[in-house]
Amino acid sequence: MTTNTRPRNFIDGLARLCLLAAAALASVAVAAAETAPQSGGELAIYAGHLFDSESGRLLPAHTVHVVDGRIKSVQAGYAKRDRETLIDLRKYTVLPGLMDMHTHLTTEYGPRTYMETFTWNPADYALRGVDTAKRTLEAGFTTVRNLGDTANVTISLRNAINRGTIEGPRIFTAGKAIATTGGHADPTNGYRYDLMGSPGPVDGVINGPISARQAVRQRYKDGADLIKITATGGVLSVARNGDNPQFMPDELEAIVATAKDYGFTVAVHAHGKEGIERAVRAGVDSIEHGTYMDTETMDLMKRHHTWYVPTLMAGEWVTEKARVEGFFPDVVRKKAATIGPLLKKTFAEAYRRGVKIAFGTDSGVSRHGDNAREFALMVAAGMTPADAIRSATWNAADLLNMQDELGSISEGKQADIIAVAGNPLEDISELQRVKFVMKGGEVYKQPE
Ligand SMILES: [Zn+2]
Repeated sequence: MTTNTRPRNFIDGLARLCLLAAAALASVAVAAAETAPQSGGELAIYAGHLFDSESGRLLPAHTVHVVDGRIKSVQAGYAKRDRETLIDLRKYTVLPGLMDMHTHLTTEYGPRTYMETFTWNPADYALRGVDTAKRTLEAGFTTVRNLGDTANVTISLRNAINRGTIEGPRIFTAGKAIATTGGHADPTNGYRYDLMGSPGPVDGVINGPISARQAVRQRYKDGADLIKITATGGVLSVARNGDNPQFMPDELEAIVATAKDYGFTVAVHAHGKEGIERAVRAGVDSIEHGTYMDTETMDLMKRHHTWYVPTLMAGEWVTEKARVEGFFPDVVRKKAATIGPLLKKTFAEAYRRGVKIAFGTDSGVSRHGDNAREFALMVAAGMTPADAIRSATWNAADLLNMQDELGSISEGKQADIIAVAGNPLEDISELQRVKFVMKGGEVYKQPE
């Protein structure tokens, strides 16, 4: 029957197309498997000392057994099985791979950064990401959260790293950060009127609960892993206020509720007290920077089990650059000089008060690959070295809801393992000289 012919042909055509697509996908999968770094085989790693990130203690002489990229078992003493290849780190302190909960792999600030928006294409950002991801991994950071992207480049970067095409840390990316009109992550702030638009020509600028929900769902569609919002003003945006609240409670509630539907956590850039407290009450997962929080805010965070990601390096960096004539636009320079120096004091108080702290640097503001300098700043502000390392391992895995996979050297977890020459509990700056890096059982750096 002629009436049936067309639909059947159409369906046949569709089926053929689907088969073609499936075949194409299968060949892509084969190609990816061929290029992926081989992490198979069985390894025995001798550790002179082993950092137990759960207890914060350093254990002498241990062997870590790795099978197919995962930790099979950990035992006291040195014992290699016949079929295992030995990695001898008896002269070293072995730790879990470090985890930075606040990076921007597509950014690296310089005096000409503000021009990049007009001159750089997504491919330029992507190629920068190839370089910054490699530097980050070589510095011992096997996992990062990327909290604010350009052109969703870090989503592709994450996929390329997972396929083994390029070298870099495990990336959990928020995609483009969500802001309100004129807010900290509204990327057209400070432009010519016709370029600024309203609410903005770019995705991720929301006003009201409906567009808040839409922005979260868009990130799900884009392939992001979590949500980042800018709940208050910030230092580096070309806008006057660095700490005012920029989201209303109904917008925050819409973000958090929608995020939960898709299994997303919510990371919140915030400097001012009011903006932080609104976000905490709405049920977000982490406060980044947190400059103007007071003891009342800290107690609220404790009650809501909200994480604090301090980013002391960003504070130090903007303070330094604010002294350099012409480095920042005037409106930014003023904020940098005011907000930068306060961060250390806030962090010290939050630590004393027992707020949950996860490690984050805001790298991309400071140079990628220098991430471990944050440890020294944390310790200088009063944190114990063991707690500082735990914030970048045990705690960071907890914040990511990945404690069954990451954050410690223990049975069943990914073999993300690094080593330093000295004792980082005595000299925390040892972490700035990482000698050995393994991610998922694959070695990316080893002692000469
Ligand atoms: Zn940031």
